Amino acid sequence: MSRPAAHDILFEPVQIGPVTAKNRFFQVPHCNGGGYRDPSAVAEMRRVKAEGGWGVIFTEQVEIHHSAEITPWIELRLWEEGDMPALARMAEAMKSHGALAGIELVHPGVNAPNLYSRAVPLAPTALPIRTFTNDPVQARAMDREDIRDLRRWHRTAVRRAKACGFDLVCLYGAHGFGIIQHFLSRATNQRGDAYGGSLENRSRLLRELVEDAREEIGDTCGISLRLSLDEVVGDLGFSNAELRDLIEMHAELPDLWDLAHGSWEECSGPSRFTGEAAQEGLVTGIRALTPKPVVGVGRFTSPDEMARQVRAGILDFIGCARPSIADPFLPKKVEEGRSDEIRECIGCNICVTGDMTASLSRCTQNPAFMEEWRRGWHPERAPARGASRNVLVVGAGPAGLEAARVLGLRGYEVALAEAGTALGGRVARECRLPGLAAWGRVRDYRAAAIGRMPNVSVYFDSALTADDVLEFGFEHVCIATGAVWRADGVARQHVVPMPVDPAMPVFTPDDAMAGRLPSGRVVVYDDDHYYMGGVMAELLVQAGCTVTLVTPAARVSDWTWNTLEQAGVHRRLAGLGVEIVLNRGVARIRADHVVTSCTYTGAEAALPADAVMMVGSRSPAGTLWPELKARQAEWAAAGIRSLRAIADAEAPGPIAWATWAGQNYARALDGEAPGDAPPFRREIAALAPPA
Ligand code: ADP
Ligand code: SF4
Repeated sequence: MSRPAAHDILFEPVQIGPVTAKNRFFQVPHCNGGGYRDPSAVAEMRRVKAEGGWGVIFTEQVEIHHSAEITPWIELRLWEEGDMPALARMAEAMKSHGALAGIELVHPGVNAPNLYSRAVPLAPTALPIRTFTNDPVQARAMDREDIRDLRRWHRTAVRRAKACGFDLVCLYGAHGFGIIQHFLSRATNQRGDAYGGSLENRSRLLRELVEDAREEIGDTCGISLRLSLDEVVGDLGFSNAELRDLIEMHAELPDLWDLAHGSWEECSGPSRFTGEAAQEGLVTGIRALTPKPVVGVGRFTSPDEMARQVRAGILDFIGCARPSIADPFLPKKVEEGRSDEIRECIGCNICVTGDMTASLSRCTQNPAFMEEWRRGWHPERAPARGASRNVLVVGAGPAGLEAARVLGLRGYEVALAEAGTALGGRVARECRLPGLAAWGRVRDYRAAAIGRMPNVSVYFDSALTADDVLEFGFEHVCIATGAVWRADGVARQHVVPMPVDPAMPVFTPDDAMAGRLPSGRVVVYDDDHYYMGGVMAELLVQAGCTVTLVTPAARVSDWTWNTLEQAGVHRRLAGLGVEIVLNRGVARIRADHVVTSCTYTGAEAALPADAVMMVGSRSPAGTLWPELKARQAEWAAAGIRSLRAIADAEAPGPIAWATWAGQNYARALDGEAPGDAPPFRREIAALAPPA
């Protein structure tokens, strides 16, 4: 299949200083929760992107010196020569299919609490550390000697980066994470010397660092600057207008301008609050200010939109982090005219949670992400089937769909039985809720993929019983029948059902998704803490209810802090007039009110209500799995070699857990029985010689 001519523009080579990118697909730096702890996993993840056709591939942020480090976040380090082999392995992997390998160097300045190195943090102006966690640490103001040191550390780092094999070196000053930005911004730079005051002075360090880098490595490496389109920290922040002045002032300084936005939260806007190409207004017109190429991001998943951005003269490179995670083969698919096969990012920011929790990142759409090296998973390929031939998958939610897709890819004969009349399970329902339309892509990608597979058959209206399953005689049966929300209040505050007066109408998100909505004054009791409580509050306001959200947590939708959605959720609910009651649980439910209780003191108060929306926990749906398990003695006679429940049917979790479980099931089939050892590789730090 040939691609539309309109997409050809995306495959033009573009020069970046002394090097040339083969196309306009630019994987901007992104974290992955692995960093220096899991270097081989990171290298293989980037290698797969090279195979997927990206023209430029970057590392995540790489700290250049121990005097600025962001423990407990796990990124990369180039503190000393001993860090170089890991980075060299990454550079080699990135370049394996003709991509340019880029390294993002950073001195995190006032963003570095130095919990590991215990160095006194350095900043343009003495201020408390500015991190996600409000660490009780302050930075001291840098003097001229510190600035000389910083320049020397940068020179050393760029030399080492080149020696590691990188083609591009990016100096990072965006998202509030890099010292370049701290000098540029009047919020963090209140100096009275040659490095503070006017924009020329505030950009002095940036200019010196780029000039130093050019002197060291500019003959062979492209040098880019990554800056914020608008710092969004109030009047003193580095604004979009100042950025434009800066680019005009230093139009030819770097070989490429890499433009990110505000804080990480603004830049990686979740789909719940931010659409594709959301930064267009902030970036339009900048290209006219500089002869150097410009890259920008916008959760781009549509090649039509990408081509439009280039044709309209907005961007030279299409920057992607999340779209490249969800589909490392995005460029190849566009190149080969297979755009309909793109696994589109849904903007859920589950990938971000890996970084926020210092665990390996996972992706809702691409379960192979960060499993490329650990488990040998590939986002596009799977080993041919093993000794058996056929599999029955029961339930077509994200887990069943993913299991069926990967089993189909492996060449099994797959029957996918679904009780309802549509594919998608929970995502088919949830994507109709406020702000969650993009969730539907989880179904769409898989529905299209299995639609192309002659060996996968879908049976609707097939609510299977244990007798059905035992009669069918499939060799393997995968139960992916999902979960339902509990109405009894069991979650974290209550580990046994809470006292509820039957006169009070109690609803669950399943009721709401089925169109059964309360009216009047509704208490949303959120003891789940992910997105559903906030989404229910929003839905109920839309339905005309007066909503009070009660949660034992200190923040509304507490866990969405990890997906960079939390502030947006609070803003959205406050804007809708939802009364938010924090640090209070619900002790019991009476006929016409709920009794709330303080998380800390237990002090109780009555809250009048006409109905309660219970957002607590979920239970595996139906009885199919327990019934089959109870009849295990009959499996062999029925021709069943294996039968197991996966995902929500086993233990409920987020959608990303379900797609992962589906893929894991499909890949493991006919494999060796798991032993007691971890079913994945890991790198164990080498011991230093005895002291
Ligand atoms: P998961 O997130 O684990 O994939 P979902 O709840 O999204 O789970 O999807 C489960 C799917 O299984 C739903 O579409 C539901 O209709 C279907 N299902 C539940 N019980 C049965 C059954 N006994 N037979 C066939 N399909 C079922
Ligand atoms: Fe996109 Fe979600 Fe995957 Fe991140 S986890 S890349 S936001 S689909």
